Amino acid sequence: MPLSIKNAETLVLHGGTYRSDPETGAVAVPIYQTTSYQFRDTSHAKELFALSELGHIYTRVSNPTQDAFEQRIAALEGGAAALALASGQAASAYAVLNVAEAGDNFVTSTDLYGGTWALFASTLRHLGIEARFVDPSDPENFRRATDARTKLYYAETLPNPKLNVFPIREVADIGRSLGVPLVVDNTAAPLIARPIEHGAAAVLYSTTKYIGGHGTTIGGVIIDGGTFPWEEHADRFPLLTQPDESYHGLVWTEAAKALGPIAYVLRIRAKLLRDIGAAIAPFSAFQFIQGLETLPLRLRQHNANAIVVADFLAKHPKVERVIFPGLQTGEARRRADAYLRGGYGALVGFELSGGAEAGRRFIEALQLFYHVANIGDARSLAIHPATTTHSQLTGDDQLRTGVTPGYVRLAVGIEHPDDIIADLAQALDAA
Ligand SMILES: *Cc1c(COP(=O)(O)O)cnc(C)c1O
Repeated sequence: MPLSIKNAETLVLHGGTYRSDPETGAVAVPIYQTTSYQFRDTSHAKELFALSELGHIYTRVSNPTQDAFEQRIAALEGGAAALALASGQAASAYAVLNVAEAGDNFVTSTDLYGGTWALFASTLRHLGIEARFVDPSDPENFRRATDARTKLYYAETLPNPKLNVFPIREVADIGRSLGVPLVVDNTAAPLIARPIEHGAAAVLYSTTKYIGGHGTTIGGVIIDGGTFPWEEHADRFPLLTQPDESYHGLVWTEAAKALGPIAYVLRIRAKLLRDIGAAIAPFSAFQFIQGLETLPLRLRQHNANAIVVADFLAKHPKVERVIFPGLQTGEARRRADAYLRGGYGALVGFELSGGAEAGRRFIEALQLFYHVANIGDARSLAIHPATTTHSQLTGDDQLRTGVTPGYVRLAVGIEHPDDIIADLAQALDAA
């Protein structure tokens, strides 16, 4: 990047070192559809394997198309380095597995994506890693659940269905005073929330959603903020600060010193990707580069349309309650305004006075909105969480995450707002 650029609209097009392909001059980042990379000579190969020089060896671990995407999103997020993965789920799993082993625990907000809840409450528990679920309305709950084997705090910036913005700064500060890093899933609030600036140690995304932006590609990314002092809390993080027997005794915090403050993401790449291998495909990385280019532009329309939709629903006689950060009051609104800039996101929840049956009729009557288990598509989407995304949870767990039987979630798209409202109006008539 020729200038020192700070604006998102420019960073999404120019962030990172890629300018054009050195061989051909191609301006768009090529899809490097290759598994392996020829070494210059034997000493080059040795340097790469020893991590004393960064370079591509095998696409399970890194790839030039992926690298261009990672550099761009790291620049956009204000982080030190990024790692793109095969899915958002892989990003959440690796974020925890990178610092926790059997016998350890981590503290997580109860307000989570259903897939993340299942990963934490079941799969990680089966591996001996305990997720301690706490109510984020009181940040002190994180402190109370912390002990010497707590490795991480985990939360989503703008979790649905409640859409209560997470107290990022408050919990990051508690974590920093105790030596525990906060990892934030910012999937629903790209650009409008900047968790690293509020003290988060790392940010992750399901790039499947707004970053891809067109409902075509599954992917995830972890961005290392580069500010967490792992070595000051060396006893808590032996996986990062003690010799790694699977890497000829290398210490990750030491190995990162020549490369930048990237120990966290370096270990995920060199160890977890090497061993478990949820690698992103080069074509998927290419798709996310395309998505990123128009992210600021699209989000402006998503966010503006969502405000129009929330206001329309709030005035509609068949709607009992609208869940939208811009319509909240009290502490929830204070947090929304403290952490979101330039919009309240594009997710809008509401409850029909007719309950679950009216919800079903409403969904069936939609013509423009798609009925799908996704968010962040350019098209408007709707879903009934109790029977779909959250159906694998028990009834009690559903209620704990805020899913009531009559709740409908909208992921408002970038169509003309008049057309969106017209579809909602006719479906509400049928509800
Ligand atoms: C979709 C989603 C995930 C999981 O991402 P995938 O790309 O579907 O694996 C995680 N967190 C949030 C908030 C999501 O919306």
